[in-house]
Amino acid sequence: LSENLDGRNRPRPYAAGLDAGGSFTKGAVVDRDGRIVARLRVPSDHGATGPAIGRGLAGIVRRMLMDAGLSDDDLAGVCISAPGVVDAATQIVHSCPNLQNWDGLAVGALVASELGLPTILENDANQAAVGEHWLGAARGRANVICITLGTGIGCGLILGGRLYQGATGGAGELSHIVVAPNGRPCTCGQVGCLESYASGRAITAQALALGFDAADSPPERVFAAAQEGDPRAEAIIQEAMEWLGLALANLVNLFNPDMIVVGGGLAATGDQLLDPIRAAVWRWGRGWLADQVAIVTAELGNDAGVTGGAAIVFNAKGKDDV
Ligand SMILES: [Zn+2]
Repeated sequence: LSENLDGRNRPRPYAAGLDAGGSFTKGAVVDRDGRIVARLRVPSDHGATGPAIGRGLAGIVRRMLMDAGLSDDDLAGVCISAPGVVDAATQIVHSCPNLQNWDGLAVGALVASELGLPTILENDANQAAVGEHWLGAARGRANVICITLGTGIGCGLILGGRLYQGATGGAGELSHIVVAPNGRPCTCGQVGCLESYASGRAITAQALALGFDAADSPPERVFAAAQEGDPRAEAIIQEAMEWLGLALANLVNLFNPDMIVVGGGLAATGDQLLDPIRAAVWRWGRGWLADQVAIVTAELGNDAGVTGGAAIVFNAKGKDDV
């Protein structure tokens, strides 16, 4: 039995995508047309170490298969996203502060040894970018910058119609490009990273510095206060999105994308978020390049990562229609 084929010699019809974050691990079983036939969301297990991490993730896949009435033979493979940098060759996770026990582990291999299925590990923002490219806002676009704006800033690059991984799988670390030498300290140990100016975490830090109550400092609350006309909140959002727009203008000049897709928890704020980004891209980007780039919100929400994982599995199996 080829690993590509099911019991009746057909291409295996489903793939599982898992999206592991600091709070929750989401999973879906997806068919080759992008339909989700089973899904699961469980709290991420911060206590598990080593092989137990693989057993936990494999258990999520098995539960979804059972829910959908499917067996292992129906799955072409599994793709898991990590909230860290993934070495594409060794499939080892590096820099994974939100799931610290994953740091240094080949998580995909641990899951593969549990399930006996091809298993791929990918960075979370890359996986979401592939999902938006397959089924979401970036359908049919060949050159897309996908941003995930939440506590941090994720970035996946679709270039020439494919996910661009860089030499070792680490491309797209937009959060830690330095925009202000000698600037604010970053969680990564560097100073002046974009994340310290434009992320949800940075918005909260600025709100607290301007005297907001802790309860009013989460970025969603700051956006809401700006919507209601609070000038301090407006200034915080304006400044943060200008920094993000500055960084994106530089990417526009470098890559000449057709589209920038903004997803993640803060994307629900829509034009309130996008308008200052658009203004900054038009201000700092090269005129003709900046004029023709569409800047839009993501369409798949929480499904971007899990469907992107399925697309990565199908692509790895030699399908090129995704
Ligand atoms: Zn940093």
